Amino acid sequence: MWPLSGRPRQGLLLSRAHHSAASVSITANDRRRSEAPKKRALPVQQQAKNDGRAAKKPRLTTVNSASSRSEQPSLPIVRLSNTSRFNCYSNTVVQLLRHLPHFNAALSNLPPSELCGVLQETMMGVHPDTTLLRQTVGGDFAIPQMHDAAEFLLHLLNALDSFDIEEQFAFVERPVQRCTQCEDHPVRDVQPIRELILHLHPSQYHQETFQTVVDRVQSAEVKDMPCSLPDGSTVQHQHSNHLEINFQPGQKYLIMQLNKFHLNRGEMVKRDMMVTKFSQSNQMMFGHRFRTIGAVEHLGHSPMIAHYVAWCRSDNGWFRYDDDKTPQQRARLPNGLKNIVTLVLEKF
Ligand SMILES: [Zn+2]
Repeated sequence: MWPLSGRPRQGLLLSRAHHSAASVSITANDRRRSEAPKKRALPVQQQAKNDGRAAKKPRLTTVNSASSRSEQPSLPIVRLSNTSRFNCYSNTVVQLLRHLPHFNAALSNLPPSELCGVLQETMMGVHPDTTLLRQTVGGDFAIPQMHDAAEFLLHLLNALDSFDIEEQFAFVERPVQRCTQCEDHPVRDVQPIRELILHLHPSQYHQETFQTVVDRVQSAEVKDMPCSLPDGSTVQHQHSNHLEINFQPGQKYLIMQLNKFHLNRGEMVKRDMMVTKFSQSNQMMFGHRFRTIGAVEHLGHSPMIAHYVAWCRSDNGWFRYDDDKTPQQRARLPNGLKNIVTLVLEKF
């Protein structure tokens, strides 16, 4: 098995975040998925009234919000409190995970563990918030302070320590280095790395299409590197470096982090970067087709002074989960992915 660079490494997402952002406007180039007639979902409150389970357990109401690709016939709405003011990032992650059917199927097949049990209970609304989950994940997350939602997601996936879960998210990054000066110089053998989160770095300076931002992940850069000649001497030659992204047969999801933070006067701040031509329902990337099924919205100016909100796709639109407030139904993600810092995509 390849080394998994996504193993617990707190601070990584934030430390990478200064690559940052561009500010621009919108062109939601989205095509609604054309499928069999969709069941019209009732407003959330009305669903709650109509549902028997809601009466027994006020925090848990049922709507038919599972996507048509989902294997779950219906998904209860679970509200998670943020009275501590430091749970919104972990609440957001739980809401995202609740809406991933393959993940939930694998989770229910895991051997019993404290973390698995607490996560499942939290997803079912047994606990009022994610404090116990944070404490069970441990490390810095046990402390009541703000963290990056994607960092917590990465840590949680790793802490579950399950190959079945890992393979749903893991893709392989293979750095390819080739000498541009040696005639028959082979491609340098660089070990592939399994990753759980793909980092995107939108331009800080100008408007870009989503495809341009994605293409940059694999674009080549030229670097001087040493080459060994047949006589045993070493010379510096220009090498082309690029990254190959390879998806695995068992992969179901792709988590993408849009790094919108940059260093300004020694402080990490957010740019109001926007991208154009992002298709939330049909996005071609790396030779595969994806649709977005979850997203993390970051409100605030910095990673540490922040409020996180989850966007989860349902049959006919999206639910925006802002802690224990009534989830709001929306037709689409914000234009230009404004304030969206993480995307969860499903492979077609
Ligand atoms: Zn060379």
